[in-house]
Amino acid sequence: MTRPVHYLDHNATAPIRPEAAEAVMQALRDGGNPSSVHALGRRARMVVEDAREAVAALVNARPEQVIFTSGGTEADALALRGCGRPRAVASAVEHSAVLRGHPDVAVCPVTPDGVLDLAALETLLAEAQADGQVVVSVMLANNETGVVQPVKEAARLAHAHGALVHCDAVQGPGRIFTDVHALRVDLLSLSAHKIGGPPGVGALVATDPVAVQPLFAGGQERGKRAGTENVPGLAGFAAAARVVAAGWREEAARLATLRDRLEAGIRARQPAAVIWGAGAARLPNTTCVGLPGVTAQTQLMALDLAGVAVSAGAACSSGKVGPSHVLLAMGAGEAQAREAIRVSLGWTTTEGDVDAFLAAWAPLAARAAA
Ligand code: PLP
Repeated sequence: MTRPVHYLDHNATAPIRPEAAEAVMQALRDGGNPSSVHALGRRARMVVEDAREAVAALVNARPEQVIFTSGGTEADALALRGCGRPRAVASAVEHSAVLRGHPDVAVCPVTPDGVLDLAALETLLAEAQADGQVVVSVMLANNETGVVQPVKEAARLAHAHGALVHCDAVQGPGRIFTDVHALRVDLLSLSAHKIGGPPGVGALVATDPVAVQPLFAGGQERGKRAGTENVPGLAGFAAAARVVAAGWREEAARLATLRDRLEAGIRARQPAAVIWGAGAARLPNTTCVGLPGVTAQTQLMALDLAGVAVSAGAACSSGKVGPSHVLLAMGAGEAQAREAIRVSLGWTTTEGDVDAFLAAWAPLAARAAA
């Protein structure tokens, strides 16, 4: 199947950057197991260690703090289960990888704008007698609404209660400043395919005080993550990380301009449209828009026919269109939560893509119950 002409679903996965695709292909051609001592193995090891440097630099970590995984989902699971805390507290808008990533998760509410309620977090921490027992998980920015979370403030509160702090920063790099030290978190998850690298590769950054226990046995990644390293995937991750690190501020400003054009166009076509999280700080590339009386499924299908690819809520799991748990947590009713689509922009997006979306969406907007 050919790619849709107007791909506006970068939060689900970003098209692979040419630099990353080339690096993947080169590593595939080169072959080699990084654990082998012969020259081919040593070359593969160099690819892995080079990726460790590139990914560390992307989030201002040290290379030895980076543990490679099979993606953001595994990084979240490794953080939450591997940190050894028997209880977790997570925001209600976390990705399912976090909400289901620990056997005992207490959910912390968010405001109607989708921002973690810090007072509620403090109450939960006090009730949980968190000292040495709890890991708190707060995402950097939400994948459905783009709402940026007060991670630093949450980390300060959590640390004051003796909790560890994990941040799912999968949607951050390339869009907002993503720095493990500035965020003051102990654990930080990343995923290559959200930044134009290949899918199936990610990283957990673990700062020094945290002794992460592996989820399964084996020796790789200094005993913290077993399994032969995905060398081609890591080569692609490194290439994408370097491109992003070099130019993300300019790119974020470009995306914000496109997003503003998109949202102005949406409002002009249907003033009753709801832009979720509009009152909060948001990623520059994400718009979650609800159209009263028109289901997301109807919108997706009409847009798809017009060659415009967007998604309803989180597209990560089954592809089915259920009510978004993120919007429900923000106070949406069931029906409202089924009416929202997510438009997410990225490195391939042009004004032409935004205008194509608006042209295809206008007839739907005209059908909305104002
Ligand atoms: N966390 C967030 C916020 C995400 O958006 C996603 C993917 O959509 C993940 C985790 C899972 O990452 P991966 O697809 O690499 O497993």
